[in-house]
Amino acid sequence: MEKIEVIQGDITKLKVDAIVNAANSQLMGGGGVDGAIHKAGGIKIAEECAKIREQQNGCLPGNAVLTSGGNLPSPYVIHAVGPIWHGGKRNEAEILANAYLSSLQLAKDKRFSVIAFPNISTGVYGYPKKEASQIAFNTVNKFLTKNEFPKKVIFVCFDEENYLLYKELIQNLAS
Ligand code: ADP
Repeated sequence: MEKIEVIQGDITKLKVDAIVNAANSQLMGGGGVDGAIHKAGGIKIAEECAKIREQQNGCLPGNAVLTSGGNLPSPYVIHAVGPIWHGGKRNEAEILANAYLSSLQLAKDKRFSVIAFPNISTGVYGYPKKEASQIAFNTVNKFLTKNEFPKKVIFVCFDEENYLLYKELIQNLAS
C-alpha cells in the first residue's frame, strides 16, 4: 500500500478513519472546507465543538482536536487550526507544520489507519499554496516513515492548482 495518495475532490465524501478539517480557533464552523464538513456532518459535530470550546476555550493555531463525524461517511473529524498568512514572519510555517503534526499525533494515538487532509490554510487563510504543499507533504512523509499509525494519508485537493502541486511532490518521491 502506498503511504501517501493525492486526489482531487470533496473531502466530505470520503470514507476513511478520520477526515481533517481546516478549522478556526473558536471551532465555530465557517466557509470553505469547514462549512462543507459542518453542513454534511450535521449538528452533532457542532455540539461536540461547543463542548470543547467550553472545556478548553477552543483550539490554538497549530493544535488539533477530535470529534465524531456525525452524518459523514467517515466516523471521526480531526479539527486542525492552521495559521492565518501574514507575510511569513509570524511563525506561519512552524504553525502550519504543527497543525499537520497535531493531527497525525491524534491519528496515531487513536490507531487510525487512513486519514485524509485538506490543504489547510490555503483558502481564506491565504497561505501561498506552493509553500504550504511542501510543508504539508514533508511533515506527513516524515511522520509516516517514523510511525506505525496512521498507515496512510490521503491529500484531498479541492482546486486544480493544489492538485497539480501535490501530484508533482508525489512524483518526485517516487522517482
Ligand atoms: P483555511 O481557512 O484554512 O484557508 P479554507 O476552507 O478556506 O480553509 O481552505 C482550505 C482548503 O480547503 C482550500 O484549498 C480549499 O480549496 C479547500 N476546500 C474547500 N472546500 C473543500 C472540500 N469540500 N473538500 C476539500 N477541500 C476543500
